[in-house]
Amino acid sequence: MEIKRHIETLIPEIIALRRDFHQHPELGFQEFRTRDQVKHFLTSIGIPIKDMAKTGVVGLLEGDEPGRTILLRADMDALPVTEDTGLAWQSEKKGVMHACGHDGHTAMLLGAAKVLSRLRSRIRGRIKFVFQPNEEDAGAWLMIQEGVMENPTVDAAFGCHLWSQIDTGTIDIRPGPVMAASHYFSLTIKGKGGHAGFAHESIDPIFVSSAVIQAVQAVQSREINALDPAVVMFTSAHAGSNSHTIVPDQMTLKGSLRVLYERGEQDIRNRFKRIVDHTCHAHRADYDLTFKVGNHLLSNDDIFTSLVKSAALEVLADPNRVTGSVRTMAGEDFSEYISQVPGAFAFIGIRNPANGIVYPHHHPKFDIDETMLPKGTELYVRTALAYLAKA
Ligand SMILES: [Zn+2]
Ligand SMILES: [Zn+2]
Repeated sequence: MEIKRHIETLIPEIIALRRDFHQHPELGFQEFRTRDQVKHFLTSIGIPIKDMAKTGVVGLLEGDEPGRTILLRADMDALPVTEDTGLAWQSEKKGVMHACGHDGHTAMLLGAAKVLSRLRSRIRGRIKFVFQPNEEDAGAWLMIQEGVMENPTVDAAFGCHLWSQIDTGTIDIRPGPVMAASHYFSLTIKGKGGHAGFAHESIDPIFVSSAVIQAVQAVQSREINALDPAVVMFTSAHAGSNSHTIVPDQMTLKGSLRVLYERGEQDIRNRFKRIVDHTCHAHRADYDLTFKVGNHLLSNDDIFTSLVKSAALEVLADPNRVTGSVRTMAGEDFSEYISQVPGAFAFIGIRNPANGIVYPHHHPKFDIDETMLPKGTELYVRTALAYLAKA
């Protein structure tokens, strides 16, 4: 009960922090104000801090006894969305909004740092509080490049997301793949320009592109096991001028390949490339194809997941409220941390139709049920304590 008592006293502070971050959102790698608030808060509770990855902050809490090191992560970036919630703490910055809930993540983890700093005397080991910039565009990668997993070496990692697709009052955690790997492709189909009246003298890249867009759907529908989730998606297509008579000489296509199963990432790329290659050559066209990793697969460790599940049961005290259903084809760069060490990622329900909180992430009316913020704080605290106690 001691932990619940500590959290109880912090509820107004956690909510105030969230509203402050919400009112002052900042885009990825521009989280200057947020970073300064985080640094000020951590310093005020005696946690030493380090700058990392442009606008990131890492705090390190040393327990009174030696032990393992767990990394707890929150992301801090907002989105280029114009808020339309009408809340009293609505964004002050036109065109920038915390429409994904990262304001809540930062507030929850600061609350957890405060509770854990009070419990220092019973902590065996260390807790690394990672306030990460630019989650929406793979900021975790830069944190790792700059050594967030070292000094001291991290043994396990935990993160969570306030989640609009599940009801308030629930926490969702399951083992295995939960968020998709996404690989972004850019494909330029190179034909030969000419006059629309002499099709035979040109190589029409628009015609070839249409064949490619159709043909590569076979990757998902005919080549990958239907029980392994995969998506081949085009999101951009550009060619030609404004003319009705000129055949352009090239067309550019963009999109993403997504998989939600182990060992699928290279495989889907290879299959996509093979079909692009043959289809282009069948029509005498050439092509340039490049890939960029958006996110790797986020797959939860079995043992660590059961530890988080036990922690969630203590937080909610109702087994029916701890679920294991969320899997999504969206990506999350927390995968970078747990591709190196065991760990898990949980979802905290914030959907509340009774209060009109029903909009999806990245929507101008996105909002969260704030009553779950202290639950998220408690989940960070209990997961860290449980992991370190097990050494
Ligand atoms: Zn997002
Ligand atoms: Zn997010």
